[in-house]
Amino acid sequence: MEKRKTIDELILENQKLASKIIIAHQAMKEVLIKAKKQDAFQSNQREELFIKLINENKLMSEELALAHKQLDFQNKEKAKRTDELVITNVELDHQYKERAKRADELAIANVELDYQNKEKAKRADELEITNKELEKFVSANRELKQFVYIASHEFKEPLRTIANFIQIINEDYSPTLDKKIVEYLRTIDNSVKRMMVLITSLLHFSRLGINKKVSNVDCKELIDSVISDLAVLIKSSNATIEVSEMPKINIYEIEFRQIFQNLITNAIKYQKKGSLPKIQIRAEKTPENYRFSVSDNGIGIEPSYFDRIFDIFQRLHNTEEVFEGKGIGLAYCKKIVQLHKGEIWVESELGKGSTFYFTIFPILSL
Ligand code: ADP
Repeated sequence: MEKRKTIDELILENQKLASKIIIAHQAMKEVLIKAKKQDAFQSNQREELFIKLINENKLMSEELALAHKQLDFQNKEKAKRTDELVITNVELDHQYKERAKRADELAIANVELDYQNKEKAKRADELEITNKELEKFVSANRELKQFVYIASHEFKEPLRTIANFIQIINEDYSPTLDKKIVEYLRTIDNSVKRMMVLITSLLHFSRLGINKKVSNVDCKELIDSVISDLAVLIKSSNATIEVSEMPKINIYEIEFRQIFQNLITNAIKYQKKGSLPKIQIRAEKTPENYRFSVSDNGIGIEPSYFDRIFDIFQRLHNTEEVFEGKGIGLAYCKKIVQLHKGEIWVESELGKGSTFYFTIFPILSL
C-alpha cells in the first residue's frame, strides 16, 4: 500500500508542480514566438514546422492539464490532512483536558477519602471514650446503689439506739425533767422517726425492680384493686374516681401498681381547701406504646417545678405545711416507668389541677 503523504511532502510536491506549470507556460510562449518568427519561411517548410509546433503545443497542453489536475488533487489532500490534523488536535486537547479533570477529581476523591478515614478514626476514638465512660458510669451506678443500700442499713442501727434512749429517758426520768427538756426530747424523737422512715424509703428505692416479675395484667382490675386499698382515704376525702377502658398488657405488676397508688394518693392529697377531689384515669394506645394519665382538680404545680418533682426527696411543701409526705412518691413512679422503658411528665395549671402522663412499653416475653 502506498504510504500516506505528510503535509510537508504534499507542500513540496505542490511547489514542484507549480514550478513545472510555470516552466510549461514559458515553453509554450517560446513556441508561439518562434512560430511568429517563422512566418517568413517558405510554405513547405512552414507547414512542417507548423505541424511540429501543433504537436508540441498539444503535448504541453496535456502535460499542463495533468499538472493542474494533480495540483488540484494534492490541494484537496492537503486540506483534508489539515482538517484531520485540526480534528486530531481538538481530540487530543479534549483528552488532555479530560485527563486533567480526572486527575483533579482523583485528587479531590483522595482528599475526601483521607477526610473520611480521619473521621472514622475519630468516631472510633470517640466511641471508645464513650464506652469507657459508660462502663465507668455503670460501675459507679452499681457502687452507688450498693452504697445506698449498705449506708441505709447501717444508719438505722445508731438511730434505733437514739430512739431507745429517748424512750428510756421518757419512761424513767420524765417526772423529774423540766417541761422544756421533755418538749425537746419529743422533737428529737419525731426527727429520728422521720429519719427512719426516709432511710427505709431510700432502702426500698435502691432495691426497686431488683425482684421484678412480668405478668399479663388487666389494668382495669389492677386499678380497681388499688382504689379498694385506698378506700378509707377516698371515702374520707369524698373523692370521685373515673376510670376509662384499660388494656391488658405484660408489665411488672407489683411495681406498676405502685405508680397508680402514688398518683391517686397525690391527686387526693394535693387538693384545694373546700373542693372535692375529682380524678380521671385514662389509657390510650399509641403507635409504639401505651399512654396512661391521671388528672385531678387540685392545687396545681408551677411550671418551673415540672421536672424537679420527679427527683428523690424533692417536695414543694415542707413538713410544717398541711401536706404530709416524704418526697419520694414521684421518684418511685419515674423509676418504675423507666423499668418499662417509658417516660413520665406532668401538665398543670396552678389552682386548676394537674395531669400526670406516663408511657409504658409492654414487656415482650413473660
Ligand atoms: P410527696 O407527695 O411525698 O411530697 P411526691 O414525690 O409524691 O412526694 O411529690 C413531690 C411533690 O410534687 C409534692 O411534694 C408536691 O408538691 C408535688 N405534687 C405531686 N403530685 C401533685 C399533685 N397531684 N398536685 C399538686 N402537686 C403535686
